[in-house]
Amino acid sequence: MRALQRIRDGVQFCIVCGTVSDKELCRICADSRRDRSMICVVEEPKDVQAVERTREFKGRYHVLGGALDPLNGVGPDQLRIRELLTRVGTQDDGVDVTEVIIATDPNTEGEATATYLVRMMRDFPGLAITRLASGLPMGGDLEFADELTLGRALTGRRRM
Ligand SMILES: [Zn+2]
Repeated sequence: MRALQRIRDGVQFCIVCGTVSDKELCRICADSRRDRSMICVVEEPKDVQAVERTREFKGRYHVLGGALDPLNGVGPDQLRIRELLTRVGTQDDGVDVTEVIIATDPNTEGEATATYLVRMMRDFPGLAITRLASGLPMGGDLEFADELTLGRALTGRRRM
């Protein structure tokens, strides 16, 4: 237990996207070749790895730290939603965010989270909000989708 605690304490998170990182800025946020105009919103750091494996996404990520689950006490304030809205409303190195891809898990909590995020971002001018295409196994977890299926869901994403 004590060893586990130490490991957990040693984990750092990227100050921009919130994924696990050994530096202040993760490898993806620090990469100037990544498209700053696109943000892919996921629940957990492992979902970042799942989307990276598809090689279909060249933008950046935002990790929420979970999904809305009011029955278990997870509301908007427990997730990194405010940080997301700040990023979407602020230029990054002179670049506006023009698309947010919502890639929450294909289950009840993930859908509720997506609906909430769309409501919060609907009024940002010039912003396209997209959601992964259907085809992902419902009730599942993004990280368990195979690369091909997830890659197709990403390229076939639809505007909300
Ligand atoms: Zn990052």
